[in-house]
Amino acid sequence: MKDKKNFYINGRWQAPKSKQQIEVVNPSTEEKCAIITLGNKEDVDIAVSSAKEAYNFWAFSTKDERIKLLEKLYENYKKRWADISDAITTEMGAPKDFATKLQVGTGAAHIKSFIRHLKNFEFEKPLGDHAPNQRLLYEPKGVCALITPWNWPMNQVCLKVIPALASGCTMVLKPSELAPLSSMILTEIIDETKFPPGVFNLINGDGNTTGDALIRHPDINMISFTGSTRAGALISQNAANDFKRVSLELGGKGANIIFKDADPKAIEWGALRCFKNSGQSCNAPTRMLIEKSNYSDAIKKLKEYTETIQVGDPKKEGEHIGPVVSEIQYNKVQDLIKKGIDEGAKLIAGGLGKPVGHEKGYFVKPTVFVDVDNSMEIARTEIFGPVLSVIQFESEEDAIKIANDTPYGLTNYIQTQDQEKAKRVAKKLRSGMVDVNGAGIAIDTPFGGFKHSGIGREAGEHGLQEFLEVKSVGGWTS
Ligand code: NAD
Repeated sequence: MKDKKNFYINGRWQAPKSKQQIEVVNPSTEEKCAIITLGNKEDVDIAVSSAKEAYNFWAFSTKDERIKLLEKLYENYKKRWADISDAITTEMGAPKDFATKLQVGTGAAHIKSFIRHLKNFEFEKPLGDHAPNQRLLYEPKGVCALITPWNWPMNQVCLKVIPALASGCTMVLKPSELAPLSSMILTEIIDETKFPPGVFNLINGDGNTTGDALIRHPDINMISFTGSTRAGALISQNAANDFKRVSLELGGKGANIIFKDADPKAIEWGALRCFKNSGQSCNAPTRMLIEKSNYSDAIKKLKEYTETIQVGDPKKEGEHIGPVVSEIQYNKVQDLIKKGIDEGAKLIAGGLGKPVGHEKGYFVKPTVFVDVDNSMEIARTEIFGPVLSVIQFESEEDAIKIANDTPYGLTNYIQTQDQEKAKRVAKKLRSGMVDVNGAGIAIDTPFGGFKHSGIGREAGEHGLQEFLEVKSVGGWTS
């Protein structure tokens, strides 16, 4: 078992004050793979004070200095690619190929993209020709608390740490206590890159103690949080008293509207996108809406396809899906599958219990419910497991109504060959992102949600601006 008890504060690894520790569990074997410390208030104070001190000089670093360091960081990240991938497979069960290509790959792509946006970003610019002496200065928001989940660990961490570094903010990162190992490798990379001491600090711990102490700390100016809507609401309430800037990337319950004129492959694509990462993606299309005239054929196809999806050992190469992250998550998913059965939805694939041959590990059968009503719990709650709910719709208006009838608003999907219909529907969907015909999103697309899916946007220029305050200065002569 790896000893990962130390924290990274003020440019060096050091022993925490807290003596409380927990083990990190490999979800595919149920074995303990590392031990970490749960930071206490004193640890948080030390880390925040280091970041506060560093803000005095890092906020005034030049754009060129930051670009140079970030370019070096990118090179160092690429050297540790395999280590990060192994860590992700161990800590949260992402299969080897998926972890290497996508989990580590998106982290790298974000680093590269933020460097490009930093190069192009003007930190000082005039308001416009009509007001030549009015300047806009974009300044770092200050000391940031960065709190991340376990499902896309490197993607989430890079979406926060890299723009924070690029903008001149200083920070304390607290990754998920379930998946801290990849973040600790990123910390080694930052150390090797030689960012000035105090600019980046890492502490480990849970939400209730460490996370809570961090977000309540009076010297924190900005909180960038990705995680559950429950924790996001709590964080917002706590931040309100001090007017801390808050960016929240929360849950989703995406609808995938499949019109009768959709590409025949749309059904398989939709199922695969739901099951990838074992259903543990905030933007997964977990509600499949199928047009009535096509319903029976589509369901037949869906059942056949789902039965071909393999669940397997994440250490092996291949396109299979791995376990869910923890025993708690496994039990939550099982409870919701049971709820779906009890509520009268029709199960056509998967169901309760573990897949044959996978009794050890938190493996879940890819599961499909059809004849789901949008008021059922499986259609309303973010399950975060490989469970798809299929709902029938009658018309375009009906599909839009069902898709929008959710507290969430992260990503919705449209499948049709009629481009005008796609555009009409896209405009009416209440979500931060809409994907037409599986086109996907560019790496620097503003990523974030409407309604209970959060506040703010990550990635690209929008993600960089989240870490900047705008200051207006009048009487600035050129
Ligand atoms: P979680 O809210 O339980 O935990 C997320 C992080 O917040 C962890 O580091 C945790 O320790 C910390 N935390 C929990 N309670 C806290 C509190 N009261 N104060 C401070 N910190 C606290 O979420 P999770 O189970 O780790 O992640 C899954 C959730 O993340 C899902 O809801 C998913 O949709 C969401 N998510 C959203 C996006 C997005 O971009 N919208 C991306 C990935 C994941």
